[in-house]
Amino acid sequence: MKLVLLGAPGSGKGTQAQMISKKYGLPHVSTGDIFRHHIINKTPLGVRIKEIIDAGRLCPDDITEEIVKERLSRKDCENGYLLDGFPRDIAQATILDGFSSPDKVIEIVVDHSVIEKRITGRRSCPDCNGTFHTDIIGDVTVCPVCGGTLFTRKDDNSAAVKERLSVYKEKTLPLEKYYDDQGKLFKVNGDLPVEEVFYGIEKVLI
Ligand code: AMP
Repeated sequence: MKLVLLGAPGSGKGTQAQMISKKYGLPHVSTGDIFRHHIINKTPLGVRIKEIIDAGRLCPDDITEEIVKERLSRKDCENGYLLDGFPRDIAQATILDGFSSPDKVIEIVVDHSVIEKRITGRRSCPDCNGTFHTDIIGDVTVCPVCGGTLFTRKDDNSAAVKERLSVYKEKTLPLEKYYDDQGKLFKVNGDLPVEEVFYGIEKVLI
C-alpha cells in the first residue's frame, strides 16, 4: 500500500504516521525528518537548507525530488510506504505520479486556530523521532519513549509557524482537489484525541 499523509504543521501528522507505520508495517518516509537529519549531521545538503527550514519556507524542488526518489527506490519501500511531508504542492504531486502514484491520500484536518499553541509546546526526539507536548509530559528534556534528549525544533517558533501555515494554505491545500479528482482523498478529523484520530485512519485503511 502506497500512502500519502497530508496535514498542516501541528496536525499530529508525525504521531499518526508513526502509529500507521507500526500497525501496517509501512516504512515512514518523512522528508522533514530526512532534511533535519542532514542538518544535525552538518552534511553539505544540511548546510545548504538549514536557513530555509528554520524560516519555515520550502526547500527547492530538485533537491526534494532527488531525496524522495532515492528513498522510495530502496528495498524496504518495494511493497509500499507512508509518505509524510511530500508532496507539498501540485508540482511535487505530479512528479510523484510520474514514478510512484499513491493508492490513498489521508488528510488530517485540524482547526488552524489551535495550531500555534500545539506547536509551540512541542518537543521532538532526535533518536526515535517522537513528538510530545509539554501539556502532557511537562517541561522535561528526556524522551519518555527512548530516553533521548528532547529538543524544540528551530522552526517551531511563532514566526516560522505562521510562515509554514501560510505555505500550507497556499501551496499544499490545493492537493485536496488534486487527489479528490483522482478519487484518492480521505479526510480524517484531527481535532480529536490521538487514539480516535487513529481509529478514523484505520477505517480508511480497511
Ligand atoms: P515537516 O517536518 O514536514 O514539517 O518539514 C519541515 C520542513 O522541511 C518544511 O518546513 C520545509 O522547509 C522542509 N520540507 C519538508 N518536506 C518538504 C517538501 N516536500 N518540499 C519542500 N520542503 C520540504
